[in-house]
Amino acid sequence: MAENPFFAPSDLPYELPPFAAIREEHYLPAFERGMAEQLAEVEAIAGSSEPPTFDNTIAALERSGRILDRTATVFFSVAASNTTDGIMEIEKQISPQLTRHSDAIRLNRPLWARIKQVATEDPEESWLLEKYRQDFIRAGADLSEPEQERLRALNEELSRLSTEFAQSLLKATTESALVVTDPKELDGFDEAKIASLRQDDGTYVLPLLNFTAQPGLSQLTDRDVRRRLYELSVGRAPGNFTLAARMAALRAERAQLLGFPTHAAYTVADQTAKTVEAVEEMLGQLVGPAVRNAEKEAEALAEQAGFPIEPWDWPYYSEKVRQARYEFDGAAMRPYFELNRVYRDGVFFAATKLYGITFAERPDLGGYHEDVSVFEVSDEDGSPLGLFVLDPYARPNKRGGAWMNNLVDQSFLFGLKPVVINNLNVTKPASGPTLLTYDEVSTAFHEFGHALHGLFSQVRFPRVSGTSVPRDFVEYPSQVNEMWVTWPEVLANYAKHYETGEPMPAELVAKLEAAEKFNQGFQTVEYLAATLLDWAWHKLAPGETVDDPEAFEAAALEAAGIAFALVRPRYRTNYFAHIFSGGYAAGYYSYIWSEVLDAESVEWFKENGGLTRANGDHFRRELLSRGGSIDPLTAFRNFRGREAGIGPLLARRGLV
Ligand SMILES: [Zn+2]
Repeated sequence: MAENPFFAPSDLPYELPPFAAIREEHYLPAFERGMAEQLAEVEAIAGSSEPPTFDNTIAALERSGRILDRTATVFFSVAASNTTDGIMEIEKQISPQLTRHSDAIRLNRPLWARIKQVATEDPEESWLLEKYRQDFIRAGADLSEPEQERLRALNEELSRLSTEFAQSLLKATTESALVVTDPKELDGFDEAKIASLRQDDGTYVLPLLNFTAQPGLSQLTDRDVRRRLYELSVGRAPGNFTLAARMAALRAERAQLLGFPTHAAYTVADQTAKTVEAVEEMLGQLVGPAVRNAEKEAEALAEQAGFPIEPWDWPYYSEKVRQARYEFDGAAMRPYFELNRVYRDGVFFAATKLYGITFAERPDLGGYHEDVSVFEVSDEDGSPLGLFVLDPYARPNKRGGAWMNNLVDQSFLFGLKPVVINNLNVTKPASGPTLLTYDEVSTAFHEFGHALHGLFSQVRFPRVSGTSVPRDFVEYPSQVNEMWVTWPEVLANYAKHYETGEPMPAELVAKLEAAEKFNQGFQTVEYLAATLLDWAWHKLAPGETVDDPEAFEAAALEAAGIAFALVRPRYRTNYFAHIFSGGYAAGYYSYIWSEVLDAESVEWFKENGGLTRANGDHFRRELLSRGGSIDPLTAFRNFRGREAGIGPLLARRGLV
């Protein structure tokens, strides 16, 4: 075998991973060598005869595990975006090993004894030291030997189940796809869409997207086809119900072992929310108004339909009501949302106006797939900032949704600049330009908000780089970036007809803005229902088991006051990847928690003149550049000048 590309740092600009040289057979040996290398480094730190200092203990831990870090970063990025049977096999094999590896570090008693003795005066070091202490305690460092053994077993089984959940879900997107033989059944889709669904065997296959309300439901005119699509969506991967119940029970047991009454209590303890009560108080203020709004919306839809509607009718008739009430036609906007223009003249343009940064495509630098592009980002004075990688298209081997991750973490410790990637799931047209929906445009701005958080990071240590902040804070900067989607100066710059270059007509823009509050009842209810479902699973008492997960799900929604037959949760248990394979267990509330900060910040930008360099610099300096190197709510206060309140959020969602 040629030299394994993970064994040495990449020699590409910004240490961009050398995708062209990476082959599947490199991963396992690199994981193995990486874990062995880091364990040896950790042993040396733990066994040192020097008195423990910040540098020979905490900073030394930050410096350890470079091969493993490079390997895992690339592997999990590619496993999410461009997987293969081989990668899925490696993932199954490696996930429990990585869990064992992380336990071997955090349950290392001599190491823990040294960490407890470290002292430092430096604020950034103190903050990181406290993070390490919390990480170790939360990982079980203070437990007895038999307790630690049980903990290791729990962690390994949870990691195995989580991989199984994700893989069966990925299979379900194709296995549970809607298949029709007669294209008439696809009436409502345009010709290009129908053509893109046609298979070699003459059938038409509409794959499932990751959430409940499939986009096709708003267009398909055949009511029975809509029903079939909906039932495929909510019924996919049925085996995952059992996995989920098992995982919830194991998490409750682990929480108890670590001294918490429930997994929810364990999870929020190191978030900005801190307590279960704080989260419930916030959700409690939203449920009633959201359900009342959705009920009102349902009445309008039934009137439009002329009969009592079913859940699979909601998106179709809400589109009709939207068109009637606002003359808003989603399809009429798409010619103004061409993918490249949206990025260059919209997403990038707004960032240039705010932060002075510029973007240059680097066709000489490649990704792991031909559809991936790489951009070099420079500061206003021309100095290099980092790389932005974009992978916009859906593929059968890509997981659903949209997300950002780092390919290289910024840190002064290693002198590394950030390389960040955004993944979207836009359908690639059979030919011609890629025209986005309004939602996809919003997603592009949202994910780029995460990218900015990664790109502007100016911290010493990789552990707190960029988006390494609590989950209930991480969505905040990305949500703020969505405010520029319809900002007049930005919209006028990118929303131009892909053929004629004509700007989007003013009346279409006005309708877009007027229609923004429409269907908020539905959106808030489907989100809150998923949040409360996540909460119910993770408030199980230790020892409590769930034999009938579907009945549990129904009862949980009923008890939370959000059981509304026409609006199911955005994710049901069986496809709730965020919480059963994605690190958001008892954390799905984070989106609305972050939105409180987001709504406050949008208000601040508006009060201060909007899209200006001065505003961008202030946000960048106080918030985006800090990563997780200071207390997040302190960073927020430094930016906003006060504590956050719920008022702006309620107003924005029409819930006052
Ligand atoms: Zn996000």
